[in-house]
Amino acid sequence: MTTHDRRYVIIGNGVAGTTAAENLRKNDPNCSIHLLTNEPYPLYNRVSLPRFLQGVIVEQKVMIRDFAWHEQRNIQLLTETFVTGVNTDERVVVTDKGQYLPYDALLVATGGWANPLLVPGAQDAKHIYNFVTLDDTKTIIERMLESRTALAYGGSFISYELCDGFAVRKLDTTWLTRGPYWLRNCLDPNGGEVIDNIAKKFGVEVIHGDEIESVIPKNGVPSYVKTKKGREIQTDMIGIGLGITLNTSVLANTPLEIRQGVVVNEYLETNVPGVYAAGDVAEFYDSTVNEHHTMGTWDNAMAHGRIVALNMAGGQQPYLDVPTYTSPLFDVNIAVVGTAESNNPELVSVALREPGEKGNENYRKLFFRENKLVGVLMIGSPKGRKKLVEIVKNQQVLETAEREALLRLK
Ligand SMILES: Cc1cc2nc3c(=O)[nH]c(=O)nc-3n(C[C@H](O)[C@H](O)[C@H](O)COP(=O)(O)OP(=O)(O)OC[C@H]3O[C@@H](n4cnc5c(N)ncnc54)[C@H](O)[C@@H]3O)c2cc1C
Repeated sequence: MTTHDRRYVIIGNGVAGTTAAENLRKNDPNCSIHLLTNEPYPLYNRVSLPRFLQGVIVEQKVMIRDFAWHEQRNIQLLTETFVTGVNTDERVVVTDKGQYLPYDALLVATGGWANPLLVPGAQDAKHIYNFVTLDDTKTIIERMLESRTALAYGGSFISYELCDGFAVRKLDTTWLTRGPYWLRNCLDPNGGEVIDNIAKKFGVEVIHGDEIESVIPKNGVPSYVKTKKGREIQTDMIGIGLGITLNTSVLANTPLEIRQGVVVNEYLETNVPGVYAAGDVAEFYDSTVNEHHTMGTWDNAMAHGRIVALNMAGGQQPYLDVPTYTSPLFDVNIAVVGTAESNNPELVSVALREPGEKGNENYRKLFFRENKLVGVLMIGSPKGRKKLVEIVKNQQVLETAEREALLRLK
């Protein structure tokens, strides 16, 4: 029988970790909560970083919590503290500052770190940037203010957001992707063209199907990049969006099941008693598609944080949400709902491209497994998105004609 108040340790103070801490405290005034992060800040809004990059909002608007908020709730926030190991037998977390923090329940909410550019010349050149943290954003802004040309590299959301930031700050911007079009796992050539047209309207030079072979630095900064197809692209800075590697390394030497992320069931519990995972790093069981997957979205991480807090305190609440990613890009909105995977052979899809507002086009693609809607991708008008989310959530059975009608649902 436990003779002490319950002890919770949370690795990662992003939206998943901080939401979990907040809810643990709401449900139990006596427990101890340690919330650990290697970053120097309390929770800030990563979703706002692109607008901070563009100069549309100031840094204070990016912050969500301050240190006082944690003190008022008796949440021990340990910033600039890197967790170096976890011992699940002894139930203890070890940090780079020599702390040993015992836990009754542990939450791994470590998110992911950006993949670096690994080509000749890149290590010797300054001004090659990832775009994940507030500190990344501040350094990119500093460099943008003294640059004339910029290259955004990659086919991810992050690369498009970098491209958007460079172009809005009036840099001569090139956007280079290895694939045939942006977001190749969700889109198709038609949808890719819709996106390209939006970027081109903002003066971006778009190049697909090529990749950086080497970076040629001059005085330590990128002067130009050489591509595999022989292009030479002049640039003062390079923004990298080559995907994320989920932060599971801290769990090496534990019996936790790790695939792409930390594998958890619908209660966000791992295979080791007392250990949970939430947010980007969780490879969770999604009952709308009956399989495990990871999801890098703000809403998903926040919802995980709420549910996992209940379960860490002894509850049995399944995670049943439909993950949704919405983002403004240039002058349109993009939404990805559920499982929107063009490369998934088990899914069939229908798509519609039509004129939209501000000279842009609307593009909608719907993904079905058997006769149920499981994924939605929308570029442009968001009308009908909430209804489509409900249809995914309810796992409604649809006839072929009904599927086509969903393309025009408002
Ligand atoms: C630029 C950008 C724009 C985005 N835009 C959108 C958007 O428009 N819409 C949307 O839905 N989503 C967006 N996202 C994704 C969204 O922000 C993430 O899905 C969400 O923030 C993930 O939250 P999390 O709590 O799981 O992890 P994170 O926010 O990644 O937090 C994890 C924290 O754990 C820390 N950590 C990791 N390992 C350790 C360790 N060993 N010791 C100590 N600390 C550690 C990390 O440094 C980090 O601070 C965007 C992301 C970025 C980077």
